[in-house]
Amino acid sequence: MSSDPVVRAEIVVDLAAVRANVRALAAHTRTPLMVVVKADAYGHGLLPVARAARAAGASWLGAATLEEALALREAGDTGPVLTWLFVPGEPRLTDAVAAGIDVTAHSAEGLDAVAEAVRRSGTPARLQLKIDTGLSRNGCAPEDWAGLVERARDGERAGTWRVTGVWSHLACSDEPDHPANVAQLVAFEDALAVATEHGLAPEVRHLANSAAAIISPETRFDLVRVGIAAYGLDPAPGHTPDLGLRPAMTARAALAHVKRVPAGAGVSYGHSWVADRPTTLGLVPVGYGDGVPRHAGNHAQVDVGGKHCPVRGRVCMDQLVVEVPDGHGAVGDEVVLFGAAPHPTAQDWAEACGTISYEIVTRIGGRFGRRWV
Ligand code: PLP
Repeated sequence: MSSDPVVRAEIVVDLAAVRANVRALAAHTRTPLMVVVKADAYGHGLLPVARAARAAGASWLGAATLEEALALREAGDTGPVLTWLFVPGEPRLTDAVAAGIDVTAHSAEGLDAVAEAVRRSGTPARLQLKIDTGLSRNGCAPEDWAGLVERARDGERAGTWRVTGVWSHLACSDEPDHPANVAQLVAFEDALAVATEHGLAPEVRHLANSAAAIISPETRFDLVRVGIAAYGLDPAPGHTPDLGLRPAMTARAALAHVKRVPAGAGVSYGHSWVADRPTTLGLVPVGYGDGVPRHAGNHAQVDVGGKHCPVRGRVCMDQLVVEVPDGHGAVGDEVVLFGAAPHPTAQDWAEACGTISYEIVTRIGGRFGRRWV
């Protein structure tokens, strides 16, 4: 028996995989990269991933919230950082402007809030403008775009900010043949033309996320914003070339108990799975309280000692049950919930749970430990 202490459950993040993925994406796209590190780097750890991404040549980091972006600065990151989600009136907008973080505005209220942050901080802002080209989420409506651009240009002349970027976000990039992709590209090019006519000369124009960056060269412009692919997960299964991306996250646990149950035994709450023969069950000490999707019950598989073992019955708050082959599996054995193939992957779990790999890796956490290698 190994003298290593038994680890109940942990997430292991392979930073060498992150670095290799970033380099592979840069080589494939031949475009500067913004690595998107929002939501704690999709569950992989904001600061370790940010450092790995920079080390591998990411020129930009992308964050959704002001807090995420400021955490990068507080940790000593001095490079270009873009943030795109603030509520006008949030006090930390002033800190973000003072810290030289690029802030995104897509409305008159947004520009007012940035102007106020500039007044308070005494620092001209680095401002990026976002156009809604068809996602209907944030972003300026096309009919309001010329007005927004004009105000942004006035503010630039007044020294309130410098407009450093113009950008948009795609709705259907994981479906390369979807007509929305062309429509959004055309709308983005129109918006860029309007910006140029009004005298804006942004440093970066950007549209593509991972799927578009990999599949659609015409969307790459000056910068591509890659999230999921940097974490080694396929943004558009079935549509992407093999770039050799490696999943960076492994979710592992130790078998807490192994037992035989007779035919007819119902497993877990509600007895949604009933053994049809004498069966060996393993207890995995993680559940939905740790971010394991409840939908994994009766659908996903885990790896116990190199064998894929199905989750039987419902996932509970702290535990789940798997069927192990007879004679296989002992207390303390490693269970890999998901990781890199040949283990089940986050994509396998996403398919089993009716979701996307993004949600699997971002939500796992809770009482899992976390370690970076
Ligand atoms: N850009 C923006 C604005 C995003 O919100 C995201 C993530 O959803 C990304 C880029 C990265 O997307 P992906 O993880 O598909 O590369």
